[in-house]
Amino acid sequence: MKNIQVSYQDREVSMSPTKTKTCSSCKVEKTYTDYCTRKQEGGWYLVSKCKECSKGELKTKRKSNPEKGMLWQAKSRSNREGFEYDLTVEDMDWPTYCPVFGVKLEYTPQQIRSKNRATLDRLDPNEGYTLHNTRVICWEANRLKNNASLEQLELIIKYIKERS
Ligand SMILES: [Zn+2]
Repeated sequence: MKNIQVSYQDREVSMSPTKTKTCSSCKVEKTYTDYCTRKQEGGWYLVSKCKECSKGELKTKRKSNPEKGMLWQAKSRSNREGFEYDLTVEDMDWPTYCPVFGVKLEYTPQQIRSKNRATLDRLDPNEGYTLHNTRVICWEANRLKNNASLEQLELIIKYIKERS
């Protein structure tokens, strides 16, 4: 369903429940105030799903969330290898951007191969998956970090800097 464009004035009007539009999800005719607006290509648009449906969608998304999968994997690995483990989805910090490369993190299932996929990193690889020792970084940063020692990374940095 195409988003309905509303003018800036309409956006003001949308705060009063005069106009209606049908939600693309629940098919219920609702007033403009029941929709969020989004700015794109110079205009204001009403999103196609009503606030209620958008909220519900977010909930189901959270239920089948990859964050849980990540923690589940970390937990089974901790059990297997005898690491400490005290992570919970609630207590963990789930950043939008990778703290190493600044790329937007993709919270997708592990099977999806993307260098921007969010992964759990243990700051100190000898320590377990504890809140204190675990951060979320992108897969690529994780791979680079884990394949080189600090000394090796420093040597690479030195090498690159000397050349430039
Ligand atoms: Zn709806």
